[in-house]
Amino acid sequence: MQHSPTSPTSAHEARRRPAPDRGRTLLGPALRLVHTGQAPTRSALTGGLEVTRATAGAVTAELEALGLITVDSRPAGGGRGRPSHRLAVDPNGPVVVAAQLHADGVSVSLAGLAGRLVDPVHLPLPAATDPVRLLRAVAETGARLAADSSRRCLGVALALPNPVTEPDGTALAALHFAWPSGTPVADLFAAEVARADFGPRALPDLPSAVANDANLAALAEHRHGAGRDSRHLLLVTSGHRGVGGALVIDGRLHTGSAGLALEVGHLTVDPQGRPCACGNRGCLNSETDPEALLAAAGRTPDPARPVLAQARDLARAAAQNPAARSAVEHVVDRLGLGLAGLVNILNPDRIVLSGLHLDLLAGAPDRLATVVADRCLWGRSGRVPIVPAQVHHAGLVGAAELAWEPYLDDPQATAAR
Ligand SMILES: [Zn+2]
Repeated sequence: MQHSPTSPTSAHEARRRPAPDRGRTLLGPALRLVHTGQAPTRSALTGGLEVTRATAGAVTAELEALGLITVDSRPAGGGRGRPSHRLAVDPNGPVVVAAQLHADGVSVSLAGLAGRLVDPVHLPLPAATDPVRLLRAVAETGARLAADSSRRCLGVALALPNPVTEPDGTALAALHFAWPSGTPVADLFAAEVARADFGPRALPDLPSAVANDANLAALAEHRHGAGRDSRHLLLVTSGHRGVGGALVIDGRLHTGSAGLALEVGHLTVDPQGRPCACGNRGCLNSETDPEALLAAAGRTPDPARPVLAQARDLARAAAQNPAARSAVEHVVDRLGLGLAGLVNILNPDRIVLSGLHLDLLAGAPDRLATVVADRCLWGRSGRVPIVPAQVHHAGLVGAAELAWEPYLDDPQATAAR
């Protein structure tokens, strides 16, 4: 990622600072609590920040004055206890541009706080997929959305289906688009963002960032979906081709020393298995992705339809069709071996599956849990929950998180310049 990954709510740190800084340093933690739905009322915020009601009142007033949240003074509740003001993100507040490149298309959306996408647009890949032209198409589409909106645009972020190094932001193994390895995608994207016209309401020198899509999907699930409240969240996903993984620890993405951690796709789950692009056989990539499921059912992908859609249809037919069920079970067993290896190494408290893996989980939930438990040191006594992803367009929502990140750290920066 181009700018620093995430800084989790740090009310503890904020409280330890000297008094003059406290009001300002509580703004970020307070905005995060409203943004992630953990503070729907001022009393929940007071509890979440562990401050007095007066302090919480001052902090919410400042966030409201910045145009970031609304404070409804009609008391909420009606249940027991003292009624409290309702807090929500301001529906007319600023936005960021979130974008995602897929193997077969481009998605771009404006996004407010609270993971709210505004009318995402999905376009086919342009004919020319060289880095500059593809990134220009993304930046220009985002600029058009921002210029047509009445809301102020604060930043842009892009999710990519390939590993992205940190801190320099180069793309490795961008096989979907045949980009040369080491393409400086963060710099190229920043140049295209600088050149596009985001309209009169956008911040000058609009910041931009890029990151891997599985990492961003994990961030989205952790803040707004199936990973909420987990402390060590493992996400494993199979989109169009191959398998991605990501780990969020205490609200922060674990990206390794150079942004390349959690490349789970090359875990070996069958030494005699199908060939993988890396040169080995039986990687999680080549054993549990959409093509692998179709192959396990003896099917050849129809080139006229996205392979993920064909595989999902097959997985969903498992309840009625014995051949589909046996293919799902074959692939689930391999996915279970991969997840068990990851559980033994990482000890997550929740696993979120998305893409095709979500359908495999739905097709054979008990079987997957059993394979994982049988291979885990601690699995038989305390199974790690394996749950389906919940966030629609998680890559886009995660890209929005990345673009929002500097402002979640320092909400006053939304008013700067
Ligand atoms: Zn491999």
